[in-house]
Amino acid sequence: MRRNIAAGNWKMNLTLKSANELAVSINNLEINDNVDVILGAPSVFLANIVELTKDNKRVNVAAQNCHQAEKGAFTGEISIPMLASIGVNQVIVGHSERREIFNESDQDIKEKVDALLLNNMTPIFCCGEPLMIREASGQNDYVKKQFENSIFHLGENEIQKLIIAYEPIWAIGTGKTASPEQAQDMHAFLRQLISDKYNHDIAENISILYGGSVKPANAKELFSQDDVDGGLVGGASLSLENFGPIIEAF
Ligand code: PEP
Repeated sequence: MRRNIAAGNWKMNLTLKSANELAVSINNLEINDNVDVILGAPSVFLANIVELTKDNKRVNVAAQNCHQAEKGAFTGEISIPMLASIGVNQVIVGHSERREIFNESDQDIKEKVDALLLNNMTPIFCCGEPLMIREASGQNDYVKKQFENSIFHLGENEIQKLIIAYEPIWAIGTGKTASPEQAQDMHAFLRQLISDKYNHDIAENISILYGGSVKPANAKELFSQDDVDGGLVGGASLSLENFGPIIEAF
């Protein structure tokens, strides 16, 4: 069954003290049974945040990236077995900042998705178009290609294990949110793509999150769209004041 998810992506923000405090305050919230919260913490804080939230079934911890190789000479990188060894079982892959700033290709992301599934971890697969593509109304073809290049090689049993996050790049960190209609249109399109490639049941059961300037003021309307199952939230996940109401917006 698809789940409602409020996922925070803390990116390269916070310090050990502020990250721990934020995790504890989110952990202490009364979170509805129909909502899962994911905290996408910086790697150095993951073990702490896992420890602080380990007794809370509603709160999960995700890494923001991983390397696809099991181990080896990749200075500065973090492997999936390392993440598994500290109790992390979800990883954000293909975030547009990884794609744009760190030149990650669809092929890299495909390899990360494969390696995560092989290790029984959940990939939170990000996709989304840049502004130029949206202005030329090419967003559907663009995201379809991202699916074809990175996840549509998966079998039926594997694709169902993904969480998908549609994040139009023009809406990330810009304060410019996709309208609820724009989000719904894309999410319905993506669900239909999955249904055509696999089947209706699989498509209905995958959580598709919207990301891009989600805030307390717009979360309710976005999350109430039929095909929007929650949000991947950057800036507004950095304080209880903002993330709390987003978690409560379902
Ligand atoms: C993100 O980083 O995934 C994101 C959506 O950021 P923001 O909410 O700040 O736009």
